Amino acid sequence: SVRTRFAPSPTGFLHIGGARTALFNFLFARHHGGEYLLRIEDTDKARSTAEAVQQILDSLAWLGLSPDEAPVMQSSREARHAEVARELLARGAAYLAFDTPEELAAMRAEAEAAKRPFKYDGSRWIGLDPAAAPSVAPVIRIKAPRGGETVVPDLVQGEVRVANAELDDMIILRSDGTPTYLHAVVVDDHDMRITHVIRGDDHLTNTFRQCMVYDAMGWHRPHFAHIPLIHGADGAKLSKRHGAVGVMEFEAQGFLPEAVCNYLLRLGWGHGDEEFVPRPRAIELFDLKDVGRAASRMDYAKLTHLNGVYLRAADDARLTEEVLKRLTRRGVDFGTLGGDRVRALMPALKERAKTLEELTSAAAFAAQEGPPALDPKAAAQLTPEAKALLADLAQFLNDAPWEQTDLMNWLRDYSDVKGMKLGQVAQPLRIALSGSTQSPPIDAVLAALGRTEAMDRILAAAG
Ligand code: GLU
Repeated sequence: SVRTRFAPSPTGFLHIGGARTALFNFLFARHHGGEYLLRIEDTDKARSTAEAVQQILDSLAWLGLSPDEAPVMQSSREARHAEVARELLARGAAYLAFDTPEELAAMRAEAEAAKRPFKYDGSRWIGLDPAAAPSVAPVIRIKAPRGGETVVPDLVQGEVRVANAELDDMIILRSDGTPTYLHAVVVDDHDMRITHVIRGDDHLTNTFRQCMVYDAMGWHRPHFAHIPLIHGADGAKLSKRHGAVGVMEFEAQGFLPEAVCNYLLRLGWGHGDEEFVPRPRAIELFDLKDVGRAASRMDYAKLTHLNGVYLRAADDARLTEEVLKRLTRRGVDFGTLGGDRVRALMPALKERAKTLEELTSAAAFAAQEGPPALDPKAAAQLTPEAKALLADLAQFLNDAPWEQTDLMNWLRDYSDVKGMKLGQVAQPLRIALSGSTQSPPIDAVLAALGRTEAMDRILAAAG
């Protein structure tokens, strides 16, 4: 059965490009009823951190892309990597090389002086009599194929090939017994029984070198799919200055994980002109043949738009939980009643917000206890006339039944009697209740706040 893996290096936070690679691995596996695994490539001990590992796990969990099996830590498998290297040695597919760093530097300098690309030549070590070996701790180098070419049928890039003359006898085990990265990846992918390697196209050239290990061990090569990277809107490599890049930054900015996933999916993959592709539909449709070859460009406006679509489709209880969590994060004080008011207002609130952060800002007035602080625009509109109207309106509303439709009718009646437009009544009321010149529909706000809280606020604004 199909087995894919996402293999991030824990040297920093999980960024949006990595998230898309994870998503494609996940969708491909699910589409085929297979498994999707995670391998943490932490062999670079100087740059890998435990915090980064945790961040990657948290980011994947947030995206709904946690792996089907326990993560494999690459560093825990070094003994196995070394074992395979020694097996290649025993088979004669690899050899010990005793070059000193100085000798290697000299070879490089010579190539540079002759203006030709450096290619390691290990002929002096192949077939060496062990008794004649220099007293230098050796590395193990794999023998690159000497003639012909290596052909890789890539599921996204099509057939890619390289002349074997360009391949070097690469080091697979260092003199200190640690494996090199390209060797470790192959051993791990083989042992994890990975059938499809889906990763960024910056790894395309590595693939030829990894094939040497598969072929030398007589292992089946997996299928490869190299997907294009994500760039900024200007076509440059995606970076901080384009906007959010870390997965958890998108969380902080109020994006929903399903909107982020939908957006990332559509970036470089398409099925007709379907833009709204929720996960079940994505699993049903996803195929590597529909992944484009060109680098895609991150478009934050489009993501924000899509997020609004998901927000309106989201469950009110979940949105309320999210908003209350974010209010707490902002240090806003509110009690059980405040939470209930936000819950009651959620159907109206979510119609106008594009992100959870916008939603949180719009909901804050309902959560807070007591009369809201007025924003400057609202304060300027709270004239003596407006205050007088609010005082009068408060009396009128005293007897109103506190249900949304009734409240609307009462407000209509009030404006009719006063010969005013509904808006002329609603605007001061809105300011009194929300502290702002913008809010969800006024009847919804009145109903959600409840009689006591609403009356308090109207009277406070009336002064
Ligand atoms: N660890 C590599 C990276 O983070 C991925 C290697 C692979 O997928 O084979 O770019």
